[in-house]
Amino acid sequence: MDIIADNSHKQSPRDSVKNYRGRFAPSPTGPLHTGSLISALASYLDAKSNDGQWLLRIEDLDPPREIPGAAAAILASLRAHGLQWDEQPMWQSHRHADYQCIIDRLLKTDNAYYCTCSRSTLRTSGGIYLGHCRDQHRRPDGESSIRLYVADSHIHMADAIQGSYCQNPAAAFGDFVLRRKDLLYAYQLAVVADDEAQSITHIVRGSDLLESTPRQIYLQKLLAYTTPHYAHIPIITDANGQKFSKQTFAAPLGNNRATDNLLTALIFLQQPLPPKSIQGSVTNILEWAIEHWSLSFVPETLAITAGK
Ligand code: GLU
Ligand code: ZN
Repeated sequence: MDIIADNSHKQSPRDSVKNYRGRFAPSPTGPLHTGSLISALASYLDAKSNDGQWLLRIEDLDPPREIPGAAAAILASLRAHGLQWDEQPMWQSHRHADYQCIIDRLLKTDNAYYCTCSRSTLRTSGGIYLGHCRDQHRRPDGESSIRLYVADSHIHMADAIQGSYCQNPAAAFGDFVLRRKDLLYAYQLAVVADDEAQSITHIVRGSDLLESTPRQIYLQKLLAYTTPHYAHIPIITDANGQKFSKQTFAAPLGNNRATDNLLTALIFLQQPLPPKSIQGSVTNILEWAIEHWSLSFVPETLAITAGK
């Protein structure tokens, strides 16, 4: 089976998309840092230059990984950088009933099943799930995860920055988890449910999520959801090629240096810089950056090493 999600939108900067709805979806595992500001700014500028809405979603799916106060710090940081979201932020911790409802539907239609495999079983197959519990009709016993039955299919997508990308999720990952043994919902399920619930039309995010996108498109097709347009921007890596992330303790952004931080992010995204005379004002920088934003200036590469 071939699934084509070819909705690339390399358009000229000024012809705007109808009813554009973008989003920024941080996990509250730490404060905003340079890398996440770049994602936030890119999705904001792409939305606003298309006269769109820019929504916020806090991906608080995994309480053990969360840092108390991180969500509030992210909101404060976005505000300090002038990145004001539209509508009420969505909190994934309030969405469990919806996620469960989708899972029940997938179980009922035999698109999902209970799995009792341990981590060590998975390790022997290089992390790819080979379908041990498929067709076993296991009953829920409090010690099982729920997996999606993934059929062999090539998902073709046209990423607005990275170009065409093709993956067979069955070969790359196998039947992936929708709900973990500890009852936490998986990111792949939640993100698909929420992008649909928020009617997201355009997703601009870090390239570390490119390899997740075919699984998300697969789920969207199965659930008869609309597939958004995708644009994966390069991520920043340190000199060792490691992603600059909260986990690698990238320094939190100083909210008192918002104008400098925005200019740094614009340079990273290879956008033109506003004239010196307006570089002292967050509002003026953003207004100018919206006016001059072009996705086509963003480097078509997966990663950029900081300081290069
Ligand atoms: N919450 C994810 C993250 O931190 C982003 C998910 C997404 O944009 O789809 O990195
Ligand atoms: Zn299993």
